[in-house]
Amino acid sequence: MTTLTELAALLATGKTSSVELCQDYLARIAAWNPTLNAFITVDAERTLSEARAADALRAQGRGGALTGVPIAHKDIFCAEGWRTTCGSRMLANFTAPYDASVIERCKAAGMPCLGKTNMDEFAMGSSNETSFFGPVRNPWDVERVPGGSSGGSAAAVAARMAPAATGTDTGGSIRQPAALTGITGLKPSYGVVSRYGMIAFASSLDQGGPMAPGAEDCALLLNVMAGFDARDSTSLERAPEDYTRDLARPLTGVRIGLPREFFGAGLSADTARAVLAAVEELRRQGAETVDVSLPNSGLSVAAYYVLAPAEASSNLSRYDGVRYGHRAAEYRDLTDLYERTRAEGFGTEVKRRIMIGTYVLSHGYYDAYYLQAQKLRRLIARDFEQAFRQCDVILGPTAPATAFRLGEKTADPVAMYLSDIYTIAVNLAGLPGLSLPCGFDTAGLPIGLQLIGDYFTEARLLNVAHQYQCITDWHRRLPAGMS
Ligand code: GLN
Repeated sequence: MTTLTELAALLATGKTSSVELCQDYLARIAAWNPTLNAFITVDAERTLSEARAADALRAQGRGGALTGVPIAHKDIFCAEGWRTTCGSRMLANFTAPYDASVIERCKAAGMPCLGKTNMDEFAMGSSNETSFFGPVRNPWDVERVPGGSSGGSAAAVAARMAPAATGTDTGGSIRQPAALTGITGLKPSYGVVSRYGMIAFASSLDQGGPMAPGAEDCALLLNVMAGFDARDSTSLERAPEDYTRDLARPLTGVRIGLPREFFGAGLSADTARAVLAAVEELRRQGAETVDVSLPNSGLSVAAYYVLAPAEASSNLSRYDGVRYGHRAAEYRDLTDLYERTRAEGFGTEVKRRIMIGTYVLSHGYYDAYYLQAQKLRRLIARDFEQAFRQCDVILGPTAPATAFRLGEKTADPVAMYLSDIYTIAVNLAGLPGLSLPCGFDTAGLPIGLQLIGDYFTEARLLNVAHQYQCITDWHRRLPAGMS
């Protein structure tokens, strides 16, 4: 495996160039994408011209840590000149006229874009099956899903079609696909990564973050992605951090909280076994464990599926066929234009969310649903507040089970929604959460472990994950036939 640090070293010593690296990755994309469908858009000429610019910067001695290292971007980030679809027919022909903050930062760091990755439509899904561009397949078993909504980014990294990728996480969309594909992914504290130019799903929950094989890669990438941005009113004005600073810190005395609610019914035996074995490993490294409780976490899926659709119904009202995106070919009047455009442009899951959202916000139901869900959100955040009085990091599974088969849950939305039972509370509270690989099930599918931290403790989560990865090699393994 080649890590971001190793790639940067190869570039710094002149052993390779960004153009060569990008050519290698583009060749791998050409070889594997027809099977995996991880990328919606690839534009080799554009990638290579960015690579040439990065090589020129290095030649002038003006390169930064990651200059020339390529990256894949989830197709939710607007990137100037790139088609930006958000996995939807609504934006299938939309070329972004500007860069999202995250894209701008990666560009400023000199990281060429390898392409835009597939995703669930408007990031609504846990399997990548809601994408207008077809499902992504899991590199570990192509009959199985890679998770979602950042399934394209996860599959791209797992198959090493990219050394790293960006993702977004509203209820688990970085962590759950990371778990199902055997890579590492971090959802930062809300407000750490700017949402400017990141197509909105549920604005109070959405957060961009890094996806890569290991925690060290994620730390380097978060250094690039994070930072205050006045164009996002929820971006936090904090001093810049070096997220790699604590990677090497020993785990002696770190208190790891094990929430009893995360190890009960619904968790598969294989996942429980692997997660608990990882806990033992961390104890051998000096960590201590404490039992904690998150009594309201069982209500998080219910609260989320009121709040997220409510926000989505408002955010998606902008797709009206007038200003940009899909427009129905024929219509009688303005109302007919809206109706036909939205009927044609949105898929089933997106329509379901818009209907739920408008319902829970409507007069007479607002108090019964929306307001109640907001109250639950507060209680869920308070559970974490109390747990963090007893521990430094909370540990549990990322997903209840390993990758499921394509089509297995599409007919049952509630079964699909339960894929995020362990991740959603973190978004409701605005906390940072990280998923890292901790083993395989009996079918050879990757298992993910989740670490949850108090606000702004990303460096601590990366530290624990990195220390674990120094003595394990789950994150280095590749699917059979994919060396
Ligand atoms: N699976 C969840 C949903 O469908 C979360 C998606 C996400 O985090 N973007 O809403």
